[in-house]
Amino acid sequence: MPELSPSTIRPGHVSGLFATDRGLFLLPSRIGVDVTRRQAIGFISHAHMDHAASHALALCTEATARMVRHRLGNVTTRVMEFGQPQEIAGHRLTALPAGHIFGSAMLFTEHEKGSLLYTGDFRLGPSATAQPAELCQADYLIMECTFGHPNYRLPAREVVIEMLLETVTQAIRRGATPVISAYVLGKSQEVTKILTSHGIPVLQHPTIFEISQIYQASGCELGDFRLYEGRPVPGCAVIVPPKPLAPSGLPGALHVEKIHVTGWAMDAKRRQSAPRDHWIPLSDHADFDQLLDAVEQVSPQAVFCTHGPKSFVEELRQRGHDARWLA
Ligand SMILES: [Zn+2]
Ligand SMILES: [Zn+2]
Repeated sequence: MPELSPSTIRPGHVSGLFATDRGLFLLPSRIGVDVTRRQAIGFISHAHMDHAASHALALCTEATARMVRHRLGNVTTRVMEFGQPQEIAGHRLTALPAGHIFGSAMLFTEHEKGSLLYTGDFRLGPSATAQPAELCQADYLIMECTFGHPNYRLPAREVVIEMLLETVTQAIRRGATPVISAYVLGKSQEVTKILTSHGIPVLQHPTIFEISQIYQASGCELGDFRLYEGRPVPGCAVIVPPKPLAPSGLPGALHVEKIHVTGWAMDAKRRQSAPRDHWIPLSDHADFDQLLDAVEQVSPQAVFCTHGPKSFVEELRQRGHDARWLA
């Protein structure tokens, strides 16, 4: 086998270590990595549906296994504990916390041809619900770059949490029901935990409540939250999925203040879609600076970028990294 050099790896072409074929595959085993079609063996970084499929054998963390079964039915899983390498189909594979949602994992693979860190969706720093990300040095880095544009430099997390608490508290003081829209899996539970740990009880839409039960059963306590049963309760915040509310607002509520909690709140166009609502830029994806920081920490020979703007590849090259877009 010729020595693997970065120039021999091209997006969409087979290299000694991985290949892409409408998804990412480890070589030589062809273990799928977040491939969204059924595979013989597939690693699932977390239970968002753009990363999961009903594989014959799914490799994932215990919490992800429970959530995948909730969403896809009975999938056979092999549980990966964080930081404990396993030999699978000729690979030494280690799941590392990704800091994205509870149970989310990065995948570190070691092979005679080199080491590879695949981040999946990730975020650096503390979280109310997710295990904090743990990066490690690797020869090659495949990184999710959703917020790979300088517009997405998020304010410090403490500042954002303060904004959220203040917005909810003010709404309650005005006699309104704070209605927070957030992704059903991950963001809703993160917001719930932040609010309940600051003394604000939470009512959840049924689809959110179901996932919260899985969080709790997997050991992630969310505090004082209940199912929303058709009428607001004074002093409580309500969390709903991010689709528009009925024109009348929340069923059962007269006076609603709508709050969107998303990293896309940094995007002026997004805010203009509902300029009278509140927008809080709390994200479970790494922002622009965290992406740059992650590359420095992993210190790879080459970085392969997925998701996000292709211009981020150029940003990395300007900083002296060998960066490519992974198709
Ligand atoms: Zn995700
Ligand atoms: Zn994703």
